[in-house]
Amino acid sequence: MDEARERNLGDLPVLGEDPGRTYRLGIMGGTFDPIHNGHLVAAEQSRHDLGLDLVVFMPAGSPAFKQDLRVSSAEDRYAMTLLATADNPNFRVSRFEIERKGITYTVDTLSALRELYPDNVELYFITGADAIIDIVKWRDADRIAKLATLVGATRPGYNLDTAVDAIDRSGINFDVIYLEVPALAISSSHLRERCVAGQSLRYLTPDQVVGYIDKHGLYVSQRIA
Ligand code: ATP
Ligand code: MG
Repeated sequence: MDEARERNLGDLPVLGEDPGRTYRLGIMGGTFDPIHNGHLVAAEQSRHDLGLDLVVFMPAGSPAFKQDLRVSSAEDRYAMTLLATADNPNFRVSRFEIERKGITYTVDTLSALRELYPDNVELYFITGADAIIDIVKWRDADRIAKLATLVGATRPGYNLDTAVDAIDRSGINFDVIYLEVPALAISSSHLRERCVAGQSLRYLTPDQVVGYIDKHGLYVSQRIA
């Protein structure tokens, strides 16, 4: 990988150094408000099953689908994502989407990554079954299909068959790998609701994240959107 390219990566991991092999980079996008064990287990299972070299967690700067909802600051979401992933040698966190101005669109992220990494780095965009159903409606979905392989992880409450149908009916040639991950019926919304109700978040998200939420008083008085 040449030096200029490496410099432009910023906090993204260097990958693709050996032109003689193929590398697989997982990208776990989300609002992560807060990150929880459902995100972590989906990323870890994808890493293992697909032989990903690394998974980069990318907290969205200004999530396209949450414009009318109250979202914690990007810095808080970034800090919690960092704390939750720090002990996994195969996980990284990037400020890539946070630093970009304006609404965050996945197509912009993936095309930028495609430019930054050499051709021997394959991109895998990891999503849960709910996001897979939506992705066909995302901006420039046809371009997303060309830029990355989608990983559709099972998620309690969402039917993977519905996702398969949505992809099939889209008429877009998505490359999707459907993946069974240990079922955790939790969501960030659920964790926020528990905070408001004064319930514990322990064992739903890493202890460090629980500590951060307590210390900074996140969610306690928030209107649940
Ligand atoms: P919210 O309730 O605020 O929407 P969320 O729990 O859905 O939060 P997001 O940040 O919206 O979290 O999701 C990021 C990605 O993680 C999405 O692709 C989503 O499908 C996936 N995901 C979230 N929770 C789970 C889970 N429990 N199991 C599998 N995938 C999940
Ligand atoms: Mg969600």
